[in-house]
Amino acid sequence: MDNCIYCKISEHREHADIVYQDDTFCAFLHPTPINHGHIILTASAHCTSLTLLEDETYSKLHCLARKIAVAILKTKNYDGFNIQYNHGECAGQDSLHAALHIIPRVGTDGFHLNWRMQKPASEENRKELIEFIKNKIS
Ligand SMILES: [Zn+2]
Repeated sequence: MDNCIYCKISEHREHADIVYQDDTFCAFLHPTPINHGHIILTASAHCTSLTLLEDETYSKLHCLARKIAVAILKTKNYDGFNIQYNHGECAGQDSLHAALHIIPRVGTDGFHLNWRMQKPASEENRKELIEFIKNKIS
């Protein structure tokens, strides 16, 4: 896609610090990282949502994310990592090209996901949701 920054990076029309690339995927250092080593991993072909990827591509993307995360841990500079996917603007998706974020972590980095834990919904609402999801998984 002509105006997509992740497509441009995958096609080398825009500079990025690429850490991995093959015919299907591209991984590069985030230009404005949460932590040093924050990596964006994308399928090279433009796709707005990971939910639209073929199963095989989706699986390979996550296997590659794991390999990158393991490599990050081998640097010995980090204690852990987060792998995050932001789907939709309300969830923080800032590019229409779907991507996984691999974020190296150390105990003192001060980065917090800011999850607000809430009381669970009513039993009736939980059962309704469970049934809905069960019926939609195919
Ligand atoms: Zn794109």
